[in-house]
Amino acid sequence: MKLSVVIPCYNEEQVLEALFERMTAAARAWNLDYEVICVDDGSSDRTWALLRAQHARDARWRCLSLARNFGHQAAVSAGMYHACGDALVVIDADLQDPPEEISRMLEKWREGYQVVFAIRASRADPPLKSLLAWAFYRTIAKLVSFRIPVDAGDFCLLDRRVVNVMNAMPERGKYLRGLRAWSGFRQIGLPFQRHARAAGEAHYTFKKSLRLALDGVVSFSSMPLRIASILGWWVSVFALVGILFVLAQRIFSDWFESMGLGPAPGFATIVISILFLGGVQLICLGIIGEYLARIYEEVKGRPQWIIGDSIGFDHAPSPPKSPLLAP
Ligand code: UDP
Ligand code: MG
Repeated sequence: MKLSVVIPCYNEEQVLEALFERMTAAARAWNLDYEVICVDDGSSDRTWALLRAQHARDARWRCLSLARNFGHQAAVSAGMYHACGDALVVIDADLQDPPEEISRMLEKWREGYQVVFAIRASRADPPLKSLLAWAFYRTIAKLVSFRIPVDAGDFCLLDRRVVNVMNAMPERGKYLRGLRAWSGFRQIGLPFQRHARAAGEAHYTFKKSLRLALDGVVSFSSMPLRIASILGWWVSVFALVGILFVLAQRIFSDWFESMGLGPAPGFATIVISILFLGGVQLICLGIIGEYLARIYEEVKGRPQWIIGDSIGFDHAPSPPKSPLLAP
């Protein structure tokens, strides 16, 4: 039995030494053969040099370097694609997910669970980030047609069968924690305390987090598209009522005047309705655009990542073949 640990690393020179130490110490409790695949996601600091040095010290540590910064989800996907273990753990480099938890996950795996994911019982992130994450996980859980556990990040253990399923999915803009839940199998969540970063600062900028959240919603739910049409219908109903009212006002103007509702110069009404309808139309176009952009990404069929360099692999690692380009 062999365990693969996949660690995406993006400008993590400040935490890597601590990571090597704590992971190696934690691994003593696993009682099985293991490999650690560190994926350097186009770092511009000493990350690659440190990973190379770690491979020289301990050949179980293998390294992939992506040709540029492809993003966290692509880095994890690349690592998963090149792992050979019977089980696989995905963990962040910054020690927010404690490596010591892996032995608890292995216990559950040995009991027969194929997906063991960590639930963030508490998180030491800035209040705004925590609040947005809290709201996001609950929103997406409501939107999708299968069960997505709330507050579960990418820290998890996957059985080889699940890894094969995930590797076979050709889609870009992957939302791994959604795909993991979607794939089914026997799943269990383990609550744990999510610590603050060991050192350095978060590379998940607000923009990257928003992108991930959008990928999650758009790839698992067509509810936003439906919102567009539901909104459209309601606005149309109100518009129809308004039109009927204005027509009636014109035709029966005497009666309306006697009621004090005679036709008045309706500048405000016109401006308000134009602005309102314009806003609704732009929102709906934007929603359609989000899906269209993703369809375009998929159709282009470009690889999800490009390997620039690798250390410790027998074969030259390659990006996954696009099903669209296959013969
Ligand atoms: N990461 C990455 N590519 C990126 C951004 C982040 O591989 O473009 C890695 C990073 O090195 C870390 C993990 O993804 O191991 C989580 O990132 P971070 O700690 O910055 O995000 P947070 O924990 O705040 O969500
Ligand atoms: Mg982090």
